[in-house]
This record gives sequence, structure tokens and C-alpha cells, in this order.
Amino acid sequence: MPSETEKPLGPGTLAVHAGQSPDPTTGAVMTPIYQTSTYVQTAPGVHSGNEYARVTNPTRTALEGNIAALEGAAHGICFASGVAATDAIVKCLRPGDHVVASNDLYGGTYRLIREVFGPFGIQSSFVDMSDPENVEQAITQATKLLWIETPTNPLLRVVDIVRLSEMAHVHDITVAVDNTFATPILQQPLALGADLVVHSTTKYIGGHSDVIGGVVCTSDEEWDEKLRFLVKSAGAVPGPMDCFLTLRGIKTLHLRMQRHCENAREVVAYLEDNPRVACVYYPGLERSAGYDIARRQMSDFGGMVSFLLTDDRIESAMKVLSGTKLFLLAESLGGVESLINHPASMTHASIPRDERIAAGLEDGLIRLSVGVEDAEDLIADLDRILSSL
Ligand SMILES: *Cc1c(COP(=O)(O)O)cnc(C)c1O
Repeated sequence: MPSETEKPLGPGTLAVHAGQSPDPTTGAVMTPIYQTSTYVQTAPGVHSGNEYARVTNPTRTALEGNIAALEGAAHGICFASGVAATDAIVKCLRPGDHVVASNDLYGGTYRLIREVFGPFGIQSSFVDMSDPENVEQAITQATKLLWIETPTNPLLRVVDIVRLSEMAHVHDITVAVDNTFATPILQQPLALGADLVVHSTTKYIGGHSDVIGGVVCTSDEEWDEKLRFLVKSAGAVPGPMDCFLTLRGIKTLHLRMQRHCENAREVVAYLEDNPRVACVYYPGLERSAGYDIARRQMSDFGGMVSFLLTDDRIESAMKVLSGTKLFLLAESLGGVESLINHPASMTHASIPRDERIAAGLEDGLIRLSVGVEDAEDLIADLDRILSSL
């Protein structure tokens, strides 16, 4: 890493350099893929800091240092997937403890909290967190964890991290923010008062749809200790090749986010103007409820856009979903390529329909992950199918 300067390094510099230094044995500029399960000891119990690769691996350590620096955290703890990172946090709760989570969130988080941890006695409430009043009402004596996702998935509502963190801390509740949609380039939850930041690094951080991973960042020493204990004891760790790929992806995170944001803005302008589109969900729309909060807590509005057609027959939505050529119909988001998704049957199918509808997630909702291609090509792709309706 370049020598320390008075001024903190910018996010682009951190994305390229943080956590890494040329390999001391060979001078390799890129952190090697330390494809090893164990490390030699010079005498029993005397080692160079790595003992066994479930506990630590230098490629993983470099990745952890990099993401932690981007989030302004003291610690980063990597996991084999985003849900493994979430799992580790929820596992720190005890039977009878209560979680308050967003009702518009990653479907797998809902499934994990409800279906995996419910039977172990973890209680949960899912509320619309864009209104802090709902959160205040959901908090009980047993509440130990507030699980925020913002912008929310797939309705792109904005949740006020500062306000909810203050509220939670009065009750001694830990605040975790799933920052997958915003990335640390656009939003830094720890600086806004959160205790834990979670990412599915599978998405924007890796950025190339070629690897699964997750991370928790924190500056809380106790949480760092608890999570590292779980890394060692439960073992949901990413392999060195996956860490290498993620680290390579991160080096262009700041560049990609800029382009994702620009392209999304153009796609939104096109959709807003299209009579076949009834409603666009995007945090950067001035009329959207969370616009002022988004302006305060994010540096830009991200690459995710959802919309509803004027013609609300499900067949019309299906035609759009199956008809685009550049927007590939697939789960996931945040890669360089644009994706189109039907939350009701794909990413959010694990949420019961009545709960989905109550949360505002309609059957016809279409979600776009706007990639880094040329905006005019993406718009032409959407226009071809929309004008055929
Ligand atoms: C994908 C995703 C997850 C889960 O991450 P995996 O890496 O797929 O396990 C969690 N939160 C959000 C917001 C996601 O998009």
C-alpha cells in the first residue's frame, strides 16, 4: 500500500490497494491464490500467523482488509456466501431473542430468519422500515437485532440508517445493514451509526457474476471476536480462488458503480417517459418518499430499477421478462451484464404471496439490474419489447 498521507485515501485508491502488499517471497504485485489447507510450524505451536486454512488464509486476509477499508471498518470477516454471513450474525442470538427486519428484503434472508432460525426459537417481525414508526412499534423487550436493507429489494425504498440506529441503540439493539445494493462506494452504514455491515460480495463487489461470497464488516471488537469464533467453529469459509476473484473484481468497483448509476439514470428516464410503464421504483426519483434520505445517506442512487406495466396482466410482464436480449433473465444482480428478474417467481418466491402483496410487491413487478453496457443499447433492448406490447 502507498505510504500513509495526512488525508485519508479515497475509495478508488482503497479499492485498488487496501489490504494488499506485494508478496514478500516473490515480489508478485497481485496477492497470490494461497491454495493450501495448512501451514508449516517451526516448532509445535510456533507459526507465521496462519495455522489452518479454515481459520485464516492470506488471500482471504487480503480481501478482508480491502473490504473493511472501503467500509471504514476495523474488521472484515469473509464467508462462503452472503447468506453464510447473515447466518453467522443470526447465530449469535439465543432462543427467545427477537429480530426486527425489513419486509422488503432479499428473499433468502427472510427464509433464513423464519424457516431456519424460527424452529430454534428466534422470533422475528418484518415491517416497512421506510416508516421508522413501524420499527418503534415492532421493538419488544426481546429484540436484539435490527436487520436493515436499504435500498430495499425489490421496491428500492430507502431506510433512514441514522434514525433507526439511534432508535435501536436506546434499546441496546445491534444494527446490521445489508449494504449489497448500495456498496461502500455509495453508502457507508458504519459511519451512519450501524454496528455491522453485510454484503453478498457475489453482487456488485465481485461484479462479474463468477463467484459467490459474503462479508461482515464491523468496528466492534466483541462482534469481530464472535464472528471469527464462528468462522473457526462453523467453517462457512470462502476458498482462496474465490477470494482472489472477488479481490480482482473490487479493484474496479468505483468505476463500475459510476457507470451502473449513470446507466440506471438513463434507463429510468426512458421508463418514466414510456406510456406502457405505470410506475418506476428508483431511489433517485424526486417524488419518491425516500428521496431526501437517499440524498443524505448515499452519494448516488445505484444500478437497480423496478417497474410495473400499465397493462397489469401477468402475461404482459412475462412477455417483457422473456423478450429482452441484452437484459438476461436470471437471478442475482450487480454484475457487469444487465439482468432482468421477476421477483414474485424468482428471488422472492420464498416469501408467502399474501405477505409479498401486503408489502407492495405485486405479481407483475419487473426488476432490472442495469449493467455497464452502453445505455442506448440497453434502452433499445427495452424499447423493442415494450413497444411490441
Ligand atoms: C444475493 C443477496 C444476498 C445473499 O447472498 P449470496 O451471496 O447469494 O448468498 C443477501 N442480500 C442481498 C441484498 C442479496 O442481493
